[in-house]
Amino acid sequence: MEHTHKTSPFGNATCMEMLQLVVDGQASSEQLAYWKEHLGMCQPCYEKYKVENAVKEMVKSECCCSKIPQAIIDELSTKIKNIA
Ligand SMILES: [Zn+2]
Repeated sequence: MEHTHKTSPFGNATCMEMLQLVVDGQASSEQLAYWKEHLGMCQPCYEKYKVENAVKEMVKSECCCSKIPQAIIDELSTKIKNIA
């Protein structure tokens, strides 16, 4: 369920585009405030955000001697596709 947010600080961005900006740390504080409010109203955004964050955390905690099991990556990307 993709919808745009024409009156938001994100301009014409879709939920997915907003999510990407927030996860990448590119959103302004105004956009972040809007996003947080939006999460409370938009279940698909909230679910995707949770999954994206989990992926981000895993990537961050990876070091040279540990690798994320491919099975976990596959499982998460399947989840993302199912929600989207
Ligand atoms: Zn949304």
